[in-house]
Amino acid sequence: MKIAVIGTGYVGLVTGTCFAEMGNHVICVDIDEKKIQFLLNGKLPIYEPHLDILFERNARQGRLHFTTNLSEAVENSQIIFLALPTPPGADGSADLSAVLKVAGQIGSLINEYKIIINKSTVPVGTAEKVRDAVLKSIKPVASGGERGGDFDVVSNPEFLREGFAVDDFMKPDRVVIGTKSERAGKILSDLYAPFLRQGNPIYFMDERSAELTKYAANAFLATKITFMNEIANLCERTGANVDMVRIGIGSDSRIGKRFLFAGIGYGGSCFPKDVKALVQTSREYEYDFEILSSVISINDRQKLLLFEKVKSYFKNQLKNKKFALWGLSFKPDTDDIREAPSLYLIEALLASGASVAAFDPEAMNNMKNSVGDKIRYASDPYNALDGADALLIATEWSLFRTPEFDRMKKVMKAPLVFDGRNLYDPLRMKELGFHYESIGRPVS
Ligand code: NAD
Repeated sequence: MKIAVIGTGYVGLVTGTCFAEMGNHVICVDIDEKKIQFLLNGKLPIYEPHLDILFERNARQGRLHFTTNLSEAVENSQIIFLALPTPPGADGSADLSAVLKVAGQIGSLINEYKIIINKSTVPVGTAEKVRDAVLKSIKPVASGGERGGDFDVVSNPEFLREGFAVDDFMKPDRVVIGTKSERAGKILSDLYAPFLRQGNPIYFMDERSAELTKYAANAFLATKITFMNEIANLCERTGANVDMVRIGIGSDSRIGKRFLFAGIGYGGSCFPKDVKALVQTSREYEYDFEILSSVISINDRQKLLLFEKVKSYFKNQLKNKKFALWGLSFKPDTDDIREAPSLYLIEALLASGASVAAFDPEAMNNMKNSVGDKIRYASDPYNALDGADALLIATEWSLFRTPEFDRMKKVMKAPLVFDGRNLYDPLRMKELGFHYESIGRPVS
């Protein structure tokens, strides 16, 4: 099949590459010329495990193309995926300007039947807005018949997780297709069939339900994390241990074991903006989605929890203190720092007059682009600890799970660890001679 993917970010690049891997002809489009040039030079602009092999093979074998030329992509493809950004606007609602702008551009380029698919996370009602934007700009069928044509707009939300994006795309738990068009439904069913060979379902529904499904999934997961963070905060006050509570409730199949790890809050490009957007959508329909408003404020507080612990330990005297920070990305196995707790920690520490030396296996470049030389970028985890008053851990990269504790103690000013991801056993840390504070567990 001939596919265009508009927007070549975390979602678009994975989508395009995985469709090419299944033998489709894919053209990826972006307005970012530097990004497209990078891709044309055979380089990936993001870090995503396992993407490199598929990208290289499909580009080399001529199934995966990159361009800044939208018309070339649209005219040569029947299936057009929009993987465009939908960032939060000033009131928290999803900003649809990129989606609607491209929809209008596509309208003027339609030469034969097209399926325009929203893969971006978009609020309820966006498929109708996209349809209107396309219709407004569509050119009437000219006498020569070279322009104008039939089209369908479909909602096909994406559920991939950064860090597992290729696996998730190749073997999705489910595919959701929002459309009333049988023609579009049949084509997309064929397109996705190779990804569903193990029997995972493809659900057809109306556009609005598909759009809301995506927000409901992210809002539910953000709520689950936040609930556990609240339990952890209560554990700290009552002397209970969140690890015990977690295994105690996780074995209940109605609750499930996943997404129950307490920490310093969710971040990333999706949960924060999607929860806000769902609250805003609810307001537009005169409904107060109270639980989500709480999730937002609790998560904002949780992101600064480690800072509060540090401040309290040092009795508010953070000026000229040196802190090592392990982990910058919002979660492991990605270089994405959007809304990462590390950003909030860095800002608070610097504002208190402290200095920060950070290490992350993949996200250092993105952090340099964001905060520049306000912090020191260490060459490895131990280099970050050199002369540090304390270590703060913000991301649970596997690399940090089994460090050389003796070496850490040797290079640090004091054996002091504030762990926002509960990587180590508090009792073991005590035996090793560390003052160790984590989330929802006893201080050792
Ligand atoms: P991203 O910011 O990484 O990528 C978006 C790309 O679109 C950028 O490369 C940008 O240059 C390009 N772009 C912007 N305007 C354009 C235009 N007019 N024409 C062509 N290209 C344009 O975003 P992302 O993380 O890939 O997310 C895209 C969408 O998918 C969002 O709605 C997001 O909520 C949703 N989503 C993201 C994830 C995730 O894990 N990142 C998962 C599921 C869904």
